[in-house]
Amino acid sequence: MKITERVQSVLNCIQECSPGQNEFYQATHEVFYSLLPLLNEDPRYLDHNILERIVVPERTIIFRVCWMDDQGKIQTNVGYRVQFNSTIGPYKGGLRFHPSVNLGIIKFLGFEQIFKNALTGLPIGGGKGGSNFDPKGKSDGEIMRFCQAFMSELYKYIGNNRDIPAGDIGVGGREIGYLFGQYKKITGEFDGILTGKGLNWGGSRVRKQATGYGSVYFAEDFLNVNDQTLKGKICTVSGSGNVAIYTIERLYDFGAIPVSCSDSRGMIYHKKGIDLQTLKAVKEINHDSLEAYAKLHQDCDYIPVSQYPKDAHAVWQIPCEVAFPSATQNELTLLDAQTLEKNGCILINEGANMPTTPDALEYIRQSKMLFSPGKAANAGGVATSQLEMSQNASMEQWSFDEVDIKLRGIMRDIFNTAYNTSKEFECQGDLVIGANIAGFRKVADGMIEQGSI
Ligand code: NDP
Repeated sequence: MKITERVQSVLNCIQECSPGQNEFYQATHEVFYSLLPLLNEDPRYLDHNILERIVVPERTIIFRVCWMDDQGKIQTNVGYRVQFNSTIGPYKGGLRFHPSVNLGIIKFLGFEQIFKNALTGLPIGGGKGGSNFDPKGKSDGEIMRFCQAFMSELYKYIGNNRDIPAGDIGVGGREIGYLFGQYKKITGEFDGILTGKGLNWGGSRVRKQATGYGSVYFAEDFLNVNDQTLKGKICTVSGSGNVAIYTIERLYDFGAIPVSCSDSRGMIYHKKGIDLQTLKAVKEINHDSLEAYAKLHQDCDYIPVSQYPKDAHAVWQIPCEVAFPSATQNELTLLDAQTLEKNGCILINEGANMPTTPDALEYIRQSKMLFSPGKAANAGGVATSQLEMSQNASMEQWSFDEVDIKLRGIMRDIFNTAYNTSKEFECQGDLVIGANIAGFRKVADGMIEQGSI
């Protein structure tokens, strides 16, 4: 059987045994096809059936989460934890609370996490979890009771040498606090079983900023090898959550001009540059819609989602030199990629997980635009989570600069690994190939060395 036929047969098999998991098919398809240069060169991975093994999570936990709302009614959600691969370390990956969450989304995120974590160079395996719970419009008490109910089941499966969840969409510092409190209450242990903790109870400095800062560091390194810098560049950013806010913050530090942000209801175009203070107040403190930002700044444009062009996202219509998709999966379409190219964009740097649709990705890779895949560019969050684990283990707390310098070094190493691997396989600068092969090779070699686990 030809190698491409073998790859396709594994992908077909995934579709047959896990129906309806479109995002998971998308992620496995992208990774497997980019591995072809490696599979052609080294027969061991196919001999050891690594593809067949690596797409099946080591363990999938699905559980009922019942919690009481403010009216005294019991509500029910579904909780997930997919412990995907522990070859190089304990499972590590965030929890997502969003109504769109289902098993396919958690599996796509967990699958990506395996290779992302391997790329960081740190000893962490891949996992992901979450719930279809929608935090929007819920009171603080409801969010607390949901988190407590979620942890009342999850605690059985996690531990600081076993599985260490963190935040993702809908899970920030507040939710991590409630989850951690419940874990401590049930087990009686003050353990580093979650990352993204508060600074006064085991958290790490820079964790909050890490994904956004890391994404900017990655973009700068990629531009540098192409004799460019971020300084003075117009940048568009989508999203207005954790990743987007700290991307915007660091872009300013690098002398760039971030002109946009968005949420699930609309987008802001602020030509003179996003006002970070207002953005933080609206989204981080008041958990409000970006419409509130527009009311405070008469000189910006606010476009609600209902007025977005068909099959496109309004953010990507804005002329820019660097684009940072930092909201959610499949938010940058083929049409968007074409518009970005036409408007002179030179780099698309993924802050979110899989924000680019498959046809857009194919188009970008054949264009002259540079492309940083999320599994490399947004790995700063998980890397700093691991630094939080190190600090917990040694009962230390490092300064902001100490952590930030380590983060800068890790992001540089990730960039160099992905870039050098792309060169090794004669696809210089194709970081989709570089990142996927580098991450896969590390995990696959470990799987071979550890036998039929
Ligand atoms: P947040 O919940 O803090 O923010 C998410 C942002 O995206 C919000 O502005 C939200 O809008 C918007 N958004 C979410 N879903 C949709 C949707 N379906 N359509 C349009 N907008 C949407 O999440 P994060 O910033 O933490 O995560 C953003 C991305 O980065 C995700 O892909 C996540 O997996 C990835 N990531 C996050 C890491 C982290 O450390 N936090 C680490 C690595 C990757 P609204 O405010 O209206 O809800």
